Amino acid sequence: MQFHSTRNQETYVSSSQAIAQGLSSEGGLFVPVSFPKPDWKSWQGLDYPHLAQQVLEQFLTDYNRDFLLEAARQSYGDSFQGKAGYLNKVREGTWALELWHGPTCAFKDYALQLMPRLLVQAKKNLGAGEKTLILVATSGDTGKAALDGYHDIEGVEIAVFYPNHGTSEIQRLQMVTQEGSNVSVYAVNGNFDDAQTGVKKVCGDRVIQQELAGRNIRLSSANSINWGRLIPQIVYYFAAYFQLADQGAIELGQEVNFCVPTGNYGDILAGYYAKQMGLPVGKLICASNKNNVLTEFLESGRYNARREFYRTSSPSMDILVSSNLERLLYHVTGSDKKVGGYMSQLSREGEYTVTGEELAAIQADFACGCANDHQVAQEILRQYQENGYLCDTHTAVAFRVAREYQEATGDKAPMVVLSTASPFKFPGDVLAALGQEAPQDDFAAMEALERYTGRKAPASLASLREKPVRFTAVIDPVEIADVALGTK
Ligand SMILES: *Cc1c(COP(=O)(O)O)cnc(C)c1O
Repeated sequence: MQFHSTRNQETYVSSSQAIAQGLSSEGGLFVPVSFPKPDWKSWQGLDYPHLAQQVLEQFLTDYNRDFLLEAARQSYGDSFQGKAGYLNKVREGTWALELWHGPTCAFKDYALQLMPRLLVQAKKNLGAGEKTLILVATSGDTGKAALDGYHDIEGVEIAVFYPNHGTSEIQRLQMVTQEGSNVSVYAVNGNFDDAQTGVKKVCGDRVIQQELAGRNIRLSSANSINWGRLIPQIVYYFAAYFQLADQGAIELGQEVNFCVPTGNYGDILAGYYAKQMGLPVGKLICASNKNNVLTEFLESGRYNARREFYRTSSPSMDILVSSNLERLLYHVTGSDKKVGGYMSQLSREGEYTVTGEELAAIQADFACGCANDHQVAQEILRQYQENGYLCDTHTAVAFRVAREYQEATGDKAPMVVLSTASPFKFPGDVLAALGQEAPQDDFAAMEALERYTGRKAPASLASLREKPVRFTAVIDPVEIADVALGTK
C-alpha cells in the first residue's frame, strides 16, 4: 500500500516512510491511496493481537507479518489486563467500548503502545540510522500515552508540550513524573491549539529540518496526524463488532452505529476507515463538548475556527482546529488542490466552507451533536443511576449525544459509545456530577470516588502522588523551536 499527501497527490511514500516522517514536507497528512477490501468476516474469533495483525497488514505492506503480530502481542497483552477492546453492555441496545484499560488509562494507549514499535521497524525497513526527535502537542492524554510508549526507546528523543493550566492535575502529574532518559516535558503558555500550531510550525520548518538533518536528527510527530497513530485505532471497531456478534446482539452484516467523543478527529476517522474496509458501520456520530466547531461544520459545511475557546470538563476534546478532518476532506473531495485551498483559507481567514455536494457526502457517514459541562454532569449522574455505569466526562459527552441522536432520528441500530478515559482520571468532576462534595485535591477526590462507588482507581493513577516531579519548565509557543534545535 502506498500513501500520499492530502496536499500533494504526486508524491508517493511507503507505509514505513509515512510513519517515520509523520507529516508530509508541504504540511499535508499522509493517507492511503486506496481502501483495502479484506475478507473481514473471516476474522471473527481472532484474539485482539491477531485481529490487529490482520488490520495492520492491510496497510503496512512493507512490514513483515510476524513482526506485526509480535508487536501487537507486546502492545496489547499484559499491559491491557486482558481487556483490549473490551465491550461492556450498558443497557439494551447500548454498549460502551472501554478503551481505557491500558497503562495510562486513556484510549490513546492503543496507538501509542504500538506506534514506537512501528517506528523503530520503519527505520530498519528504510535502512535509516538517524535519530528521531518526536514533538508532541497534547491537551492531556496524548502526552502521557506517548511518553509511556516512547520512553527509553533506542534512537528516539521525545519532547511533550501541554497547555499550561489546560490539563487536569492528574494528567499533568502523569506527564511531569515520567521516567526515562530520552524524555522531556514542557508547559506552554496558551491553549492546546497554540501548542499544536507551534509544533506543526516547527515540523514544517525547512531551516530547522536542515539544521537537524546536519546532526542526523529527523523530526517526527506522535500526534494523531501521524498515520501510525490512526491505524491501530481501526482495530477496535472490528473487535467491538465481533463481540456484538458473539453476544448474539447482531448478525454479521447488520449495521452498528458508533458514537465517538471527538477532538482531533482521529478516533472517529479510524471508524470511517473501518467502514471503508467493509465493516457494516451505520452512522459515526461525532460528539463534541462546548467547543462545538465540528458540530457546526457537520451540520452546515462551514468550519469556523474564529470563535471563543472554552476550557471544559472534557479537556482532551477542547479544540478549535481538528487536524484529521483534513484527511476526511481529502477522501471526500479526492483533490489535493481543494484540500490545500481549504487549509490555507483556514490558516489565513480562520474558516472555510465546503460545497453542498461535499457536505452531503460527509453527512452520509457522519452525524453529530454537542453537550456542555452541565449536560455532561447530568449524563454522568443519569448513567450511574439508571444503568449503574460509571463514566468519565469525555465518555459522558458521547452518551448524551448518542441518546439525543436516537431520540431525534428514531434510529434503532445497536449503539456503541466509545469510552475513552477512566472515570478516575477526572475524579473531581465525576464526583461533583454524582452530587457529592468534590475535594479540591485530585487524589483526595480519587479516594472519595472510590469510597462512594465501591470501585478501585487504577493503580497507575493512585501511585502518582508518590512520584517525584522531574519537569517544571514553562515556555512560550515560539520557544518550541529552541527545544527542537537544542536536541543533541
Ligand atoms: C484524545 C481524546 C479524545 C479525542 O480523540 P480524537 O482522536 O482527538 O478525536 C477523546 N477522549 C479522550 C479521553 C481523549 O484522550
